[in-house]
Amino acid sequence: MARYTDAVCKLCRREGQKLFLKGQRCYTDKCAVARRAYAPGQHGQGRKKNSEYGLQLRAKQMTRRFYGVLEGQFRHYYEMATKKEGKTGDELLFILESRLDNVVYRLGWASSRAEARQLVVHGHFTVNGRRVDIPSYLTKVGEVIGICEKSRSSDKIKAVLEENASRPVPKWLECNRDAFEGKVIAVPERDDVDLAVDETLIVELYSK
Ligand code: SF4
Repeated sequence: MARYTDAVCKLCRREGQKLFLKGQRCYTDKCAVARRAYAPGQHGQGRKKNSEYGLQLRAKQMTRRFYGVLEGQFRHYYEMATKKEGKTGDELLFILESRLDNVVYRLGWASSRAEARQLVVHGHFTVNGRRVDIPSYLTKVGEVIGICEKSRSSDKIKAVLEENASRPVPKWLECNRDAFEGKVIAVPERDDVDLAVDETLIVELYSK
């Protein structure tokens, strides 16, 4: 499975906002965006180009990086979104939100989406009682996500649950921490997506 392996803080600095890619560190004053609020590289502090295409590209890249999705898959999600009845930009975000790695992160069972992805690949979670180790699995309303019985006693899982216990769970999900279960109870709304992006720019970019 291909994935981005360079320093992730560079991605936030490039997009000019926190993308919360590093778990707890993102909430401290060690955050690279807080310390160096300009794009990385030799010309990072130079003049910013704000062409129409540039804005559209940045919106797409920011969203893609926020969810940790590579270009091909992101494009695939866009094609899926165009076939849905709602606004394409909104539908795109809802598809991204429904990925299993994102749901695990939103439930507070991982400190970042990258960690959630790794935990999913390692087989720590179930969907409707069956083990699912595919981070891109798209969850549906009514599905119950659980932590495998064997994993509940692992030091790693215990530490992650404790670390993220106070993180609020969005209203489209229900979390029963005592039962190690979460449920998708609704389709997310745009307000539930805490990413400051104008998704219509992504639609404009791909519609060309
Ligand atoms: Fe982004 Fe987190 Fe790094 Fe800050 S600490 S730059 S939010 S990944």
